[in-house]
Amino acid sequence: MAKVVVLGAGISGHTAVSYLSKYLKKGHEVVMVSPNSNFQWVPSNIWVGVGLMTPDQVKFKLAPVYKKMGVNYKQALGVSIHPEGDKENDKGYVTIKYVSEEKKDTVEKVTYDYLINATGPKLNFEGTEGLGPKKFTQSVCTYDHAAHAWDNLQESFKKMENGERQTFLIGTGHPLATCQGAAFEYILNIAFEINKRKLNHLADLWWITNEYELGDFGMGGAYIKRNGYITPTKIFTESILKEYGVRWIKQAGVSKVEEGVVHYENLKGELKTKEFDFAMLIPGFSGAGMKAFGKEGNDISEIVFAANGMMKVDADYTVKPFEEWSAKDWPLNYQSSAYKNVYAAGIAFAPPHGISKPMQSPNGTKIFPTPPRTGMPSGVIGKITAQNIIHQIKTGKIEHPHEASMAKMGAACIVSAGYGIRKGQAAVMTVNPIVQDWEKYPKWGRNINDTVGVVGTAGHWMKLFMHYMFIYKAKAKPFWWLIPE
Ligand SMILES: Cc1cc2nc3c(=O)[nH]c(=O)nc-3n(C[C@H](O)[C@H](O)[C@H](O)COP(=O)(O)OP(=O)(O)OC[C@H]3O[C@@H](n4cnc5c(N)ncnc54)[C@H](O)[C@@H]3O)c2cc1C
Repeated sequence: MAKVVVLGAGISGHTAVSYLSKYLKKGHEVVMVSPNSNFQWVPSNIWVGVGLMTPDQVKFKLAPVYKKMGVNYKQALGVSIHPEGDKENDKGYVTIKYVSEEKKDTVEKVTYDYLINATGPKLNFEGTEGLGPKKFTQSVCTYDHAAHAWDNLQESFKKMENGERQTFLIGTGHPLATCQGAAFEYILNIAFEINKRKLNHLADLWWITNEYELGDFGMGGAYIKRNGYITPTKIFTESILKEYGVRWIKQAGVSKVEEGVVHYENLKGELKTKEFDFAMLIPGFSGAGMKAFGKEGNDISEIVFAANGMMKVDADYTVKPFEEWSAKDWPLNYQSSAYKNVYAAGIAFAPPHGISKPMQSPNGTKIFPTPPRTGMPSGVIGKITAQNIIHQIKTGKIEHPHEASMAKMGAACIVSAGYGIRKGQAAVMTVNPIVQDWEKYPKWGRNINDTVGVVGTAGHWMKLFMHYMFIYKAKAKPFWWLIPE
């Protein structure tokens, strides 16, 4: 009998737990520890942020789904990991703190044979003074944030209907922020909604980004096949923004926000400001903030986690110059570099280095996007981690027949750019692999035949279809496992 504990019911952890519960029925125990009683389909929060979906359409209660799956669900936060056990017992355990009403603040020790840390990103609003929905900017990173953003966006729309000009500033709110794709999607949707209301003449739309060039998206940009031509994502992205009437500020590291004004430094070292009426800026991401302790109660967090709080896995973390980065540095199976029965899936694993070239201003401020880990790789990593653990439990062999290197796997990203069955638009981009492999693909860094970009209504239908399909899968409805990650 084996006990597998998963921390975090997001895209990665929920995928892992779904496979574990399906294939580890008899005599084994699968435990999910996650603080939010709901699963949320994060990509559709964009539509909540423009009032086209309600929070209820992008979330559902986890407890009944886990009951059906036979998963022991604890609505709690993982606080610390004890991979060597303690003085009394060698068995690894996690300390959790309940957030559910009935057990609030109760602390419990949960032992495990295998642990998957899938705690995603901590939305580090504190990393930028004045940033976030409690301060001066909006967010669409959770359904609550997105609903709050929509309330504020409506205020701006009302002002415009009364003839008042409004400036919208959307992009990254930290010099090292990632997830540009989500912000990009949001600004296109705002532009679409403004156009729908025929208020364009009263809108100043601005994109602010830490990217060196537009279309970098934290993956060093890409060359994509489009209408038979090879186009850099820089041109692809700039042309979409122009078409939607959006101007841009690039190479910008936002350092502080005050009411109606953003302060930023650019790569030339200039300190500048940009005024706004409505701003949605993505925060920096860090690990969930858990600590790790050795058998004697000694703090071993530095061994288990990287400086950003994400978990160190089977990657090559040797510090090396950009020119020496290699596809081989990227992890294959996400096993902790320190403990064999601990894994980190999705955003919770520490990337070995960036994908985009690191850039620094003359003042020493690092301004560039850190690597994104979007939904598709997060889901795939969750799945292969579960499959490897299932394999080990069933065979007794510590081996990893399933691998999912981001330098070998492709990803599709659909950036919706307007909603509606006939008028909806989306930019569809696929890259393969996500991390460039310059040895295998010396010309473009990626397989150019699988790296494509298209804009059109079909993409919108796909995005909408994916919303329903992935929520169906996450609810573990019949034959859910046939739907790919
Ligand atoms: C607005 C937005 C739009 C996006 N759109 C797309 C898109 O169109 N396509 C795409 O591919 N990707 C998209 N992404 C990215 C995608 O959502 C992420 O890649 C994905 O959610 C990462 O999965 P994850 O499981 O690693 O983290 P998450 O989905 O964030 O899940 C982490 C989970 O861990 C829980 N948790 C946190 N701390 C603890 C703790 N201490 N103990 C236990 N549990 C904890 C959290 O509550 C959460 O349930 C978007 C992201 C955003 C913000």
